[in-house]
Amino acid sequence: MKYLSTRKNNEHISFREAVINGLTDNGGLYVPEDIPSIPADFFNNIEAYEDLEIALTVLKPFVKDSLDDKELKNILSETLNFKIPVVPVEKNISSLELYHGPTQAFKDVGARFMSRCLSHFYSNKKEEVTIVVATSGDTGSAVASGFYKVPGVSVKILFPKGKVSAYQEFQMTSLGENIDAIEIDGTFDDCQKLVKKALNDESLRGKKSLSSANSINVARLLPQMLYYFFAYKQIKKDLNGKKMVVSVPSGNLGNVTAGLIAKKMGLPIHRFIAAHNANDTFYEYLKTGVFNEKKSVHTYSNAMDVGNPSNFERIEYLYNKDIDSIKKDITAFRFDDESTLQEIQSCYEKNNYLLDPHGAVGKLALSANIKSDEFGVFLETAHPQKFSKVMKKALPEFEIQTADLTDCKKTSMPNDYEAFKKQIGC
Ligand SMILES: *Cc1c(COP(=O)(O)O)cnc(C)c1O
Repeated sequence: MKYLSTRKNNEHISFREAVINGLTDNGGLYVPEDIPSIPADFFNNIEAYEDLEIALTVLKPFVKDSLDDKELKNILSETLNFKIPVVPVEKNISSLELYHGPTQAFKDVGARFMSRCLSHFYSNKKEEVTIVVATSGDTGSAVASGFYKVPGVSVKILFPKGKVSAYQEFQMTSLGENIDAIEIDGTFDDCQKLVKKALNDESLRGKKSLSSANSINVARLLPQMLYYFFAYKQIKKDLNGKKMVVSVPSGNLGNVTAGLIAKKMGLPIHRFIAAHNANDTFYEYLKTGVFNEKKSVHTYSNAMDVGNPSNFERIEYLYNKDIDSIKKDITAFRFDDESTLQEIQSCYEKNNYLLDPHGAVGKLALSANIKSDEFGVFLETAHPQKFSKVMKKALPEFEIQTADLTDCKKTSMPNDYEAFKKQIGC
């Protein structure tokens, strides 16, 4: 399997190179040249397979020119060392809990896979690689944990000052060693712009070996397909002829893009719902046909505060820019902070189930849109504890685990490219 640019050029490269480069030469994103399909038989018998076998079957065609079976198996078994359960919440609605990893958000799956791929690819290189990553909260901690003390790798995490939760900040800034957390006077989109600029900066080539760890990297994106397969395996027996619909709390659209690729491989998911907070660029696109990047606004579901979602480019590519076929597979919704709080309250009262603010947006969209012949799963993308301030607003009885930020190490920086270059040692 080779990888191409969403903005067509003549790049045609291996998985290894795509992971190391991060972004394509012409500023596009890497996409697999085709999407292999898995025979229906596999889905008919999916309960018979271990999760690790499923993961190998799904990912092998995408990586086999760069990782042999044994290497892939090692990387996957280290990546998937926590449970990913589907938990019933209401009649015909279940939660796919993606927060049982070390930093309690779904990003652990992609970040652990990517960090292990990179350290494998770099293991025989002498020079140090610098991973630059922008975060709206959870990517930073997952990447920090994934790369912590990995030899030959240094990590620079950019996060928007005052716009991540105390717990997220704690997870990013408490490690030290090869992990630098840098707060920017700006938004997540500003952080993402600085990262993209550095990755595209010709003048830095040769000076530093830079790579990215955002969901724009294929090694983050592809493993996120896996839990859609695991979810199907778990709910198949409850479907009773109903069609599976999945609601994905969305920001940069990486998670939903991975789901769409899984569907294209043959996974029987009928359709997806992209659930947004007030950052509604994709919602507006589906409504009007025009993609207008916006300034991001701060909300209670802060990991989805993205005004210019990068992976939109991949979705367009996968669907040949045909909005009608995109709309067949995805519907979008948006909800404000007030409804998010109410949903956390009412789901707790009615179902005794604790939603985090992101899962709450996912559940709202699912409840608003599920049809009688469908079975719905929403993604619980992070643990409620990561957002204790918001949780406390919704549920006064919520017990906060305090994050002690006194010993944390971070650097502050204006939203300025020259300052960023200094931080990465260029
Ligand atoms: C990153 C994140 C999202 C958004 O995922 P995208 O892939 O950026 O759309 C949703 N919820 C949580 C908790 C996250 O950390």
